[in-house]
Amino acid sequence: MFHVTLLPKANKLQKYDSAHLGPELEKAGIKATFLQTRLDDETAIIAEGYPAICIFVNDELSAASIEVLAKNGLRYVLLRCAGFNNVDLAAAERAGVQVARVPAYSPYAVAEFAVGLMLMLNRNLHKSYTRVRTGNFSLEGLTGFDMNKKRIGIVGTGKIGRLTGKICNGFSAEVVCYDPYPNVELATEAGMKYIGLEELLATSDIVSLHCPLMPSTAHMINDETLSKMKKGVMIINTSRGGLIDTLALIKYLKNGKIGQVGMDVYENESGIYFEDSSDDVLQDDTFSRLLTFHNVCITGHQAFLTREALDNIAVATVKNLCEFIDGKTPDSVVTVENSC
Ligand code: NAD
Repeated sequence: MFHVTLLPKANKLQKYDSAHLGPELEKAGIKATFLQTRLDDETAIIAEGYPAICIFVNDELSAASIEVLAKNGLRYVLLRCAGFNNVDLAAAERAGVQVARVPAYSPYAVAEFAVGLMLMLNRNLHKSYTRVRTGNFSLEGLTGFDMNKKRIGIVGTGKIGRLTGKICNGFSAEVVCYDPYPNVELATEAGMKYIGLEELLATSDIVSLHCPLMPSTAHMINDETLSKMKKGVMIINTSRGGLIDTLALIKYLKNGKIGQVGMDVYENESGIYFEDSSDDVLQDDTFSRLLTFHNVCITGHQAFLTREALDNIAVATVKNLCEFIDGKTPDSVVTVENSC
């Protein structure tokens, strides 16, 4: 029997992972051990003897941890997510370890969440929720704007970006987009028009990020790009925290240039997210500062979290593993070559 170990994304096993993955693995006749530890250089040793590991966005598969894992029998890495910025693919290839991901489990989940953040921030729902609960029915400070005819800029027109654009069209907004690899036909179908990145950033009322984190996209929202944005712009990031230079973001929040920020991801979220740390003192001063802004809504990387997405992740992950075991190459294999 094949034996896979699942390293959950946090220091605590996530019930929703085992609830969805457990039955799928069992159906395929695969024995799984769910470990309580987040994968990093120090914890890699506990996966000794397992030919496959299954990890999530905040597990770190560095060259050092791959070396330890490969020495101890690792052959396959199963990512329960689309992004693979946390995996040293070159090191995996050198060690003969194959990596597969789940490229699309529910773009709807993330796109709907991104639009949810837009609506919440625009109409100040986060403020009204707490106000009403404390008996404050004043409307002062809750003024929003019509989405109708506003310009919404979608950065990255893959599966999630296109769906986000399509939903925004429902508001009769003007949806513009940018992607270095444009697909005019699909973008047009989603009601979006390609323009240059500079123009998109300078003219959009809402900028929503939907591209992967790569060396070329790291800190694409930085001091320079923020300085060129429209005053009062809303920025939504449901992709990867590293797309935004957080210190620059704070600078432009403090000087009032940015209207609102919705972020489901944070560049240093690893070690903070996916855990209940409500009894601990938050050690990240930058994150603490972000939490103080009334016009910033932060969620803990939950955009993917729908029942449908969890089911799809479980099915696709087990399919990837079964294909590896059968000596096949899954369609969603990630290599240095196909990741660029
Ligand atoms: P996708 O691969 O379908 O699309 C990504 C798009 O980004 C591609 O069209 C690509 O050409 C484009 N791109 C590449 N470089 C770019 C650049 N410099 N500028 C603009 N666009 C660029 O991916 P997807 O399924 O649409 O997912 C988008 C991102 O959402 C993922 O990379 C992942 O990081 C993130 N995500 C987050 C969650 C969550 O729970 N918050 C869940 C799933 C995915």
